[in-house]
Amino acid sequence: MALIVQKYGGTSVGDMERINAVADKVARMHAQGHDLVVVVSAMSGETDRLLKLAGSAHSSPPARELDVLLATGEQTTIALLSMVLAKHGVDARSYTGHQVHIRTDNVHGKARIVDIDDKRVRGDLKKGRVVVIAGFQGVDEEGNITTLGRGGSDTTAVAMAAALKADECQIYTDVDGVYTTDPRIVPEARRLDRITVEEMLELASLGTKVLQIRAVEFAGKYHVPLRVLSSFEEGPGTLITYKENEMEAPLISGIAFNRDEAKLTIRGVPDQPGVAYRILGEIAGGNINVDMIVQNVGADGTTDFTFTVHRNDFGKAENILKRLGEELSAREVVGDDKIVKISVVGVGMRSHAGIASAMFKALADEGINIQMISTSEIKISVVVEEKYLELGVRALHSAFGLEKAAQSAS
Ligand code: ADP
Ligand code: ASP
Ligand code: MG
Repeated sequence: MALIVQKYGGTSVGDMERINAVADKVARMHAQGHDLVVVVSAMSGETDRLLKLAGSAHSSPPARELDVLLATGEQTTIALLSMVLAKHGVDARSYTGHQVHIRTDNVHGKARIVDIDDKRVRGDLKKGRVVVIAGFQGVDEEGNITTLGRGGSDTTAVAMAAALKADECQIYTDVDGVYTTDPRIVPEARRLDRITVEEMLELASLGTKVLQIRAVEFAGKYHVPLRVLSSFEEGPGTLITYKENEMEAPLISGIAFNRDEAKLTIRGVPDQPGVAYRILGEIAGGNINVDMIVQNVGADGTTDFTFTVHRNDFGKAENILKRLGEELSAREVVGDDKIVKISVVGVGMRSHAGIASAMFKALADEGINIQMISTSEIKISVVVEEKYLELGVRALHSAFGLEKAAQSAS
């Protein structure tokens, strides 16, 4: 019999009917003799509701207190699920992150798991109990409650599976696997039977929210057998794999997009050593992460810089840049938060030329202007106007033949 860590996301535990369905499934698998650890999210909408509530209490809520509040969402679900399991005659024990020693650093709101002491969980499993754990939360060295960032229950589950050396970590959600792109945007998107961890990592980092990036990082580090499945219907889902077979590698595995970015440009700054450092150093000093960066070829002794930041940091970054603009006698500072990033990802790209040109052609054919480009070995990203998101993703999905079983070569 196997040791399985399962994670049920917000929609999967969205109301009592759904929680009953999850309990049915857990009870059935438990009856088959499996050791089960079940990680749950807050009921859908709950984390957003709590965030809004916090916003009504304080315009910029203290991070420590915000985590205390947000962690209650998952605490509600573990209790309800365990009650329903008890009704099914299953001996279930619910635990908060703190109670099962999910130790994190102290970065409230995006804490990293540093260690898990699995003694208590193992003890319960030995007694034949189902262990139900609150996702998304941990505890820092000083005993403060921390949370792991949006989508963090995925990471709780994978980290738990790594600590327990589980036979499989199953992420149950509202889609039946990882698709070639978000099926909400492209109904013709196709479920992938398998995807390499490298591609999944890239997709997650480029905005695909079906798995939190840190969950994929953990899985990669500890080679956790990881599968994404539907909590609504039976099926094989998508397996994350750790071996890459170049012969079979599709050119493009998927298309990711990110709506959370904003673009800033500072024009006409001195084309001299130290200027990039000055600009980006000040931005970093404001605790703002920069994603893409472009510096234009200088002319007349001046140059332009454009970079993207998270949309939440847009106002702050714009203020820093405006101040710098005056200090550096820049020609102008312009910001644009109506942009999106669209990316094509595939390990097959490594050994194929022409992906970039095929991508640019598909966008050009739709009249979509590309504002910025960045590439790595296995991905190409472009920044385009926000209104072109759906059109751009659909055009690329079809240009790379992703809706069909066979891949179209470029
Ligand atoms: P959960 O609440 O279960 O954690 P999420 O909303 O975090 O669920 O993730 C599932 C959602 O991810 C899907 O409903 C889907 O719209 C979205 N998604 C985006 N890109 C993809 C993709 N490539 N494959 C599958 N789902 C995707
Ligand atoms: N409840 C948290 C969120 O909404 C964590 C999660 O669902 O994974 O982001
Ligand atoms: Mg999620």
